[in-house]
Amino acid sequence: MLNAIIVGSGAGGGTLARELARASIDVTIIEKGPVISPKKVSECYQTYLSDVEVMETTCFGGTTMVTLGNAVRTCQATLKKMGVDLEEEFRELERDLNVDTLPDSHLGNATKKLMDSARSLGFEPQKMPKFIDPQQCKPCGECALGCKRNAKWTSRIYLEEAIKSGARLIEETPVTEISTHNGQVTGVKSYDKEFKSDIVILSAGAISTPRILKRTGINAGDNLFVDTFVTVGGICKGINYNQEVPMNALIKQDNIILAPHYSGLLLDKLEKFKATKKDIMGLMVKIKDDNTGKVTGNSVIKYNTLNDVELLSKGSAIAGSILTRAGVDAHTLVSTPPRGAHPGGTAALGDVVDKNLETDIAGLFVADASVFPESPGAPPVLTIIALAKRLAKHIIQFY
Ligand SMILES: Cc1cc2nc3c(=O)[nH]c(=O)nc-3n(C[C@H](O)[C@H](O)[C@H](O)COP(=O)(O)OP(=O)(O)OC[C@H]3O[C@@H](n4cnc5c(N)ncnc54)[C@H](O)[C@@H]3O)c2cc1C
Repeated sequence: MLNAIIVGSGAGGGTLARELARASIDVTIIEKGPVISPKKVSECYQTYLSDVEVMETTCFGGTTMVTLGNAVRTCQATLKKMGVDLEEEFRELERDLNVDTLPDSHLGNATKKLMDSARSLGFEPQKMPKFIDPQQCKPCGECALGCKRNAKWTSRIYLEEAIKSGARLIEETPVTEISTHNGQVTGVKSYDKEFKSDIVILSAGAISTPRILKRTGINAGDNLFVDTFVTVGGICKGINYNQEVPMNALIKQDNIILAPHYSGLLLDKLEKFKATKKDIMGLMVKIKDDNTGKVTGNSVIKYNTLNDVELLSKGSAIAGSILTRAGVDAHTLVSTPPRGAHPGGTAALGDVVDKNLETDIAGLFVADASVFPESPGAPPVLTIIALAKRLAKHIIQFY
């Protein structure tokens, strides 16, 4: 029986675990973080300080535990040109995860005001497609702290299916290196242990995956993007936006998206106005950033290029206009610093992996955001799951 080790249990790892275990492959998932209650996953945020601060989550389920449930196709045309056609996988996923916009019952007052304001300025706001079950979701504004009602898709749903199909989970065990023999993978190493396997899939996320590859002698870690974002906001007394479904609407511009968003960092900046959480209305400005960042052994280097600054400025100006027309006091408008919640690109397709996501080491694959050839400038999870599903089909067919 084929024996596979999957490193990391986030969007890519969880999907591979489910697909391979259901095909009777002997699967072991090795996860750095702990299995922790969804109510506590906010304790597992890991941030990397750079000019642009980068975020991910280290626990069972990875960063999928804190998503806002946004489910959109990204990079499809670029990937197709590179020989990776995801149409079939996207269709399967949109059906299986019930990807849809939420009903109007879940569209809050502030989101409606922002959509109306955008429309009156000539923009075309749409509802954001989500993998959130409206029957389970009682809007609370806390998706990014982990869903207490299990209303959104997370990779734990797939991981539980994988475990039911026989997969083993080893938690709190960081993989440090890949073991090889004559150019063929033979397993992985943690600090004090070695695990043997026929194939290895690295799904440790775009910061850890390149570090493991580097320690194995593969040149990775360049081309980092993060979909840089700022949240622009101000005071609209008693609007209660902080309790609405975040990013429930979307305004698309060239290489920029805007979406309603609350950030506690805005509240800190508005302290002098004695504002409370309930008084803040904000819009996230997210850009398709240049992939000029780098992951090294002990640092993450990500700065804004001139192009990034131009996009952020343009998006922030639009956000300011929409917010003020929606009722925000223009004298209170502030912005968060630039941050990034979608790190990727550090083991890119065509550079570090081939179109079957295999590295130069036979049997060593990568299935996470690292393989994106460019910044999506939009939520990447659906595309990561689609890439992982496609890889699973390849492994099941050829191994
Ligand atoms: C607040 C927030 C909201 C977001 N909302 C959305 C959204 O609504 N929609 C969307 O599409 N995207 C969203 N994203 C982005 C999305 O969550 C990530 O892009 C996606 O989860 C990345 O998948 P991945 O498989 O590359 O890595 P991850 O999901 O981060 O998984 C990596 C896993 O590997 C583990 N790991 C790391 N190092 C090691 C090691 N050495 N050994 C073993 N295990 C290791 C980690 O603990 C983790 O479990 C959001 C991100 C954040 C931070």
